[in-house]
Amino acid sequence: MTVMIPETVISCPNFINGAWVNGTEGHLAVVSPYSNQKIGDVSLPSSHQIQEALRSAQLAQADWGRTPLKERARVLFNFRNILLRDIDRIAHLKASESGKTFEEGKAGLMKGIEVLEYALSLQNSDTGGKLEVSRGVFCEYRRMPLGVVANITPFNFPAMVPLWTIPIALGLGNAYVWKPSEKTPLTSIEIVNALGEAGLPKGLMTVLHGGSETVNQIIEAPEVRAIGFVGSTKIARLVYTKATALGKRALCLGGAKNHIVLLPDATPELAGVGISDSFTGCAGQRCMAASVLLAVGTVDAHIGKIIERASSLQLGKDMGALITRAQRDFLVEAITRAEKSGAKVLLDGRRAKAPEGFEGGNWLGPTILDHVEPGSEAQTTELFGPVLSIVRCKDITHALSIQNTSEYGNACSVFTNSGALAERVIAGAKAGMVGVNVGVPVPREPFSFGGVAASKFGHGDITGEHALDFWSDVRKITVKWEKQNDSNWMS
Ligand code: NAD
Repeated sequence: MTVMIPETVISCPNFINGAWVNGTEGHLAVVSPYSNQKIGDVSLPSSHQIQEALRSAQLAQADWGRTPLKERARVLFNFRNILLRDIDRIAHLKASESGKTFEEGKAGLMKGIEVLEYALSLQNSDTGGKLEVSRGVFCEYRRMPLGVVANITPFNFPAMVPLWTIPIALGLGNAYVWKPSEKTPLTSIEIVNALGEAGLPKGLMTVLHGGSETVNQIIEAPEVRAIGFVGSTKIARLVYTKATALGKRALCLGGAKNHIVLLPDATPELAGVGISDSFTGCAGQRCMAASVLLAVGTVDAHIGKIIERASSLQLGKDMGALITRAQRDFLVEAITRAEKSGAKVLLDGRRAKAPEGFEGGNWLGPTILDHVEPGSEAQTTELFGPVLSIVRCKDITHALSIQNTSEYGNACSVFTNSGALAERVIAGAKAGMVGVNVGVPVPREPFSFGGVAASKFGHGDITGEHALDFWSDVRKITVKWEKQNDSNWMS
């Protein structure tokens, strides 16, 4: 379905203490990657407005933290149903501001809703434990909210990445402060309104717009106990360092350069679709996108299938646009640099035609570079676009040695029909998430999402069961009511 771009400019205020509030520190334009036309106007909060927002979040959290989990879950249940009811409208809006196709917009929301459903399950599964550890002495776990927590999100998933954390953090009894990407802030209006309609009390969801000034004030605020971040490695490292230096809990997910090991025994059709969809989905603007293909031995039939699939994609229908014109120019230059340094262009997206009616957008077709040198820019740098770099490898050991040099460690996949060879990659890849015959190995709930190395700073994961301890404190309680006659050394 063609994305419906807003016809009038949408005003995007901040959300403070249950009300939409215009920021007093100026405005930023939101432009659609489909056309480079202004579709939104985001207002930036003053330092005073941020302070006021965090104070009201802290006040609201006190009651919410004491509300039983089952009652909090009822609000989340309504939230889920509202998102499902409005999914098409939200998908159009998020696609308009991020450059995704409508179907990708909808898929991101569905993944976010899966996290929401996981958070709903906590009322029945996260029951704590209690045990009589000595006669008459009981130990117990109790999950306690942290208070006010914040999350800073990137442009490429305006709904899914926030929904990784909103349901779990709110469900565990925290107040949530969200700083969306200044490039894609409009989706926050829909998410916040859905939470309000669901019955979330005021003050528990706060949205503050802007860039580094807003983020820095949030990190430094005494009210904020934990900082979640998803974005580029450079900023993830910065935010993590700053937050932890202030003694705060931080989990900061960074960029990626995901490798796929393609072995000759893989099924060509499976590899063709899986690898093509991985590097072209969301126009390559996914932290889980494949960007390097480690082609082991003779795999030309497989590569033929990848080219066949990728070259059949229609821009604007099957593949979206790049976030900015500058990013499109950077990618064109990077492809040209790779070509000049000896790579062979098997599929050239630079010549792709813009879709009719969207000639002003940021378009680049799928691009495949062969004989890319290990250590070169095309193999090591996160380009963040629909570009696949093929590095020819003599065997699986060679392929893994190249993968292991990456500074990143988000995902790595292998395409093979051999369990033993798949196991070599599962065990030997430097990656937090590994796929076997899966091009985008995003774990599904209740399994957690998160990389290693420069793809993640901090402990735990951002979703699933390994996220719970990040967004809460586990209180350990030991209780005795009566003196025991036969008490022992620990009674
Ligand atoms: P970005 O790092 O430019 O921005 C992310 C957020 O940080 C935004 O909200 C932005 O306003 C804020 N920010 C920017 N500069 C800042 C500064 N100096 N101090 C504090 N905050 C600042 O990232 P992006 O371009 O929006 O997103 C793309 C990147 O995100 C890619 O590198 C991609 O791999 C990564 N990403 C990672 C994951 C993951 O799960 N690991 C998921 C999605 C995206």
